[in-house]
Amino acid sequence: MEDIKDFGLEELKESLLNKGYPRFLARQVFSWIYGKRIEDFSLMTDISRKARKFLENNFYISGLKLLEKETSIDGTEKFLFRLRDNSTIETVLIPEGKRNTLCISTQVGCRFRCAFCVSGINGFKRNLKSSEITGQYLEVSRFKKTKPVTNIVFMGIGEPLDNFDNLVKSIGILTDPSGISLGKKRICVSTVGIIPELKELIALNLGVKLSVSLHSADAFKREKLMPIAKKYPLDELIKVVKDFCRKIKVPLTFEYILIGKVNSSRQDALKLAKLTKNINCKVNIIPYNPSSYFKWLKPSSEEIEGFSDVLRKYNLLFTLRKPKGWDINAACGQLRAKFGCK
Ligand code: SF4
Repeated sequence: MEDIKDFGLEELKESLLNKGYPRFLARQVFSWIYGKRIEDFSLMTDISRKARKFLENNFYISGLKLLEKETSIDGTEKFLFRLRDNSTIETVLIPEGKRNTLCISTQVGCRFRCAFCVSGINGFKRNLKSSEITGQYLEVSRFKKTKPVTNIVFMGIGEPLDNFDNLVKSIGILTDPSGISLGKKRICVSTVGIIPELKELIALNLGVKLSVSLHSADAFKREKLMPIAKKYPLDELIKVVKDFCRKIKVPLTFEYILIGKVNSSRQDALKLAKLTKNINCKVNIIPYNPSSYFKWLKPSSEEIEGFSDVLRKYNLLFTLRKPKGWDINAACGQLRAKFGCK
């Protein structure tokens, strides 16, 4: 038996065709599961009885088990899901005005060990299957019938480009018109800068947005914060990013976690302004959310003000984000760690 949610639409068409069923059956199934949210083949009434029996005997429809849900005083909700192999993943829903953005995980654990991130502490366990990636959207949507998810960011646990095939398949499922039909511009893929896959993503031209974790415009400091930057250096990453802006013509976002006394000086801001000068981008400045796992400091209000001053002086488009869900361990990996999950 195979999980039907692990099939992209084209894969399912091929698989059904090979078993003697018409290709359009795949679109019917997609529309029931992802459009009408029916997860029982016997209820798919426009499908012939014979085909339904075949589906029941050859496929199953998986779901994620909700272990815990926490809600912050700012409205941020955090979901802890258990997978079939007992691994756990986190998904965070962030309300902001009319938007309801879902931050989705792509891996169990992470191999990249960024110096400020709880998800990297226990290392990497495995890639999520596409059913487990899209499953986060489907499960959270059940709770949010009145205020549906409007946007998706692939910014939860794991590095999306390190699970490239399942990421691309999931984007295909989330945007397919016969099902969830989410607008491509409502999806953002975040990366630490895995250059070969980033180039592949640009070549595929999926129409989704891109967000690059920068965290310092100084190559040496960045390598200290993000060890992967030693393999994929900042100057090469910037070349690829410029290529993305030329080809895709959608403004890019740089993420910058502002850590007290680390990357928060006026000099750091000046380097950031210079580095991003000719790039069609916006920078998200996120003041560090302290965690008991690290010694890093929250930036002082003077540091935040000084940093912002320099960016304003150089006309850099930036947003100073308030830390979200600080009272519910909303920084990625913190809820799993609290529950002792590996
Ligand atoms: S920030 Fe992202 S890439 Fe870095 S360790 Fe955390 S999950 Fe992995």
